[in-house]
Amino acid sequence: MTDLRIAIVGFGKIARDQHVGAIAAVPGATLAAVASRNASLPELPHFATVEELLEKGPPIDAVSLCTPPQVRRAQAATALAAGKHVMLEKPPGTGVAELDPLIAMARDAKRTLFATWHSRYAPAVEPARAWLASRRIKSVHINWKEDVRVWHPGQAWIWEPGGLGVFDPGINALSILTRILPRPVFVTAAELDFPANCQAPIAADLKLTDIGGLAITAEFDFRQTGPQSWDIVAETDQGQMTLSRGGRIMAIDGKVVADAPDQEYRELYRRFVKLAVTGASDVDLAPLRLVADAFLLGRRNIVEPFVD
Ligand code: NAP
Repeated sequence: MTDLRIAIVGFGKIARDQHVGAIAAVPGATLAAVASRNASLPELPHFATVEELLEKGPPIDAVSLCTPPQVRRAQAATALAAGKHVMLEKPPGTGVAELDPLIAMARDAKRTLFATWHSRYAPAVEPARAWLASRRIKSVHINWKEDVRVWHPGQAWIWEPGGLGVFDPGINALSILTRILPRPVFVTAAELDFPANCQAPIAADLKLTDIGGLAITAEFDFRQTGPQSWDIVAETDQGQMTLSRGGRIMAIDGKVVADAPDQEYRELYRRFVKLAVTGASDVDLAPLRLVADAFLLGRRNIVEPFVD
């Protein structure tokens, strides 16, 4: 079988930090080109746009879209129309409905559309799901707080409409939540703090539940200085389960039971290569729907302006 020849589109922080290394490490995947307005990689063909890549670039089978969410839908449609498989960074879109035509295009063209949720591939997520499956869950609390100035410096798109603000990292927690719980969950209330000069929230408190009335709370905050937290705690009839460091470490009643090295992006590319063999798609919109509902239901507070 020949390698899946992939072009990265949008060569920013996550492309550099994770995608390049993951593609190099995964058998069956090859990085063939970069399309980015300003950035490039030495010794790889470079194009400013997806259109230029498709018109003048080397033969490729797939694109991996690492651009901000506001421009990804159009790029995905262009790539699918040209017969390419498409991998989408998270969140898969700026709205929920914009995914429908992409899903249909991929199905009709027998090409893969892979809406990735990298946090679901964190090493302790599947152990947590398996452990919770045989317990009665009493409550769940998400504590997802990071310093936006440390993790997203200069990323103006995060504060624009469709940029999601604090839900850009927060949706990772929701992607884990919707994976590890046995039943679908929904938002019942939300409180969103919008800086006076921004179009997206800097902090959010959510209440969620499921058909059985499970109490789920979530605190997202981009203003965290000092210790950062990416934790989910579930109280059950057989003890407290903690998933920390974004799903990397699992503890039961404070005792670590799972702690393995991060392979999230390698797992994503292994899955992409596998999906592309048959042109099957993998698009789960549950985390994005929860964020959309938080915007629909949320009470809004205007807080002090944010200056990067
Ligand atoms: P980023 O550093 O801003 O990189 C995105 C790149 O896309 C930019 O460097 C820019 O490259 C290009 N771009 C920006 N605006 C564009 C536009 N209007 N049209 C075309 N290209 C544009 O952002 P990032 O942190 O890599 O995040 C990208 C996506 O990955 C986001 O959806 C984010 O949620 C997700 N993600 C990020 C992280 C993380 O740790 N940063 C982790 C997981 C997932 P050029 O100027 O060269 O075109």
